[in-house]
Amino acid sequence: MSEVVVVGGGVIGSLIGYRLCREGLEVTLLEAGKAGQATRASAGMLAPHAEGLGGEELEWAREGLERYPELVRELEAASGIEVPLALSGVWSLERPPLRGWEALRGLEPRPGGYLDPVRLLAAVQKAFVSLGGTIRTEEARRVEPGRVYTATRCIAARQVVLASGAWSSRFGLEVRPLKGEALLLAAPPPPGPVFVGAGYALPRGAQVYLGATQREGWRPGVGAEGLRWLQRYRDAHFPHLRGAAVLESRWGYRPAGRLTVGRLEPGILAATGHGRNGILLAPATARRITELVLESWRTRR
Ligand SMILES: Cc1cc2nc3c(=O)[nH]c(=O)nc-3n(C[C@H](O)[C@H](O)[C@H](O)COP(=O)(O)OP(=O)(O)OC[C@H]3O[C@@H](n4cnc5c(N)ncnc54)[C@H](O)[C@@H]3O)c2cc1C
Repeated sequence: MSEVVVVGGGVIGSLIGYRLCREGLEVTLLEAGKAGQATRASAGMLAPHAEGLGGEELEWAREGLERYPELVRELEAASGIEVPLALSGVWSLERPPLRGWEALRGLEPRPGGYLDPVRLLAAVQKAFVSLGGTIRTEEARRVEPGRVYTATRCIAARQVVLASGAWSSRFGLEVRPLKGEALLLAAPPPPGPVFVGAGYALPRGAQVYLGATQREGWRPGVGAEGLRWLQRYRDAHFPHLRGAAVLESRWGYRPAGRLTVGRLEPGILAATGHGRNGILLAPATARRITELVLESWRTRR
């Protein structure tokens, strides 16, 4: 029997798994390998003040911003994988268009930055495994206290954590897919994330990450409509990027709806509904779920 089974291996489930392993628990992570995982498509911005967050979410966002530098150092040491992170500040502009990054000079950014979410996920999962965690490529079909059912077997666990992103509705959680599409452009990057209008641009290595659309539903891939939106957005807000070659596109389903981080019933916890800010909110989410699991562990609930 695993002490904990985490369902979903995006940033949320993986970081929870890592933290629980660090506390000495035996953890199995089930990852179904769905197309459209949000984490791999994400811009990776750490921008607590740019997204209209308030209350506890804002507190958790600030906690994420504060904790990431140390967390990334810890994960890099444990995994040997470098995770690019910069506390560059975040620019939010009222008036487009921006005709070049020089125009940002003299404008005060707000606290924030960015990291590479694909590298983050790789580092978290490798660190998790190096602590004794197990990752299985399997889909959970049903859960009940003490049990997770896949297509072929039943896995026993004292605690089950549902962290299956936009797919969490299958377990009765109030989450829906909000697809985001983005482009990687071959152009000199800005000094940090720049929000203007309904989108943003930020550095991804030596390139520019330009995003992102918001589309309800499960339609997969980067659609023609999404591409048109991104091109129109680029031309209207960042005209100096107009000639830049498109190197790659990214898409994923944000888990939109109700942010649920806590216990659903004895033996079952959930961490989902992080919408546009799951990378930023992941450290606080993992901390909170770890506290709850350890509390149950001590009192054997
Ligand atoms: C284009 C885009 C840009 C974004 N930009 C930012 C940003 O700048 N900053 C920020 O903080 N956030 C951003 N986000 C949001 C952020 O990426 C998400 O909130 C976060 O990645 C959600 O993580 P998750 O682990 O909950 O879900 P996911 O990353 O989607 O992972 C869920 C995982 O669960 C697995 N799964 C599903 N069902 C099952 C099952 N039954 N059994 C086993 N496994 C299952 C799936 O295969 C998947 O891998 C962005 C998202 C998108 C799409």
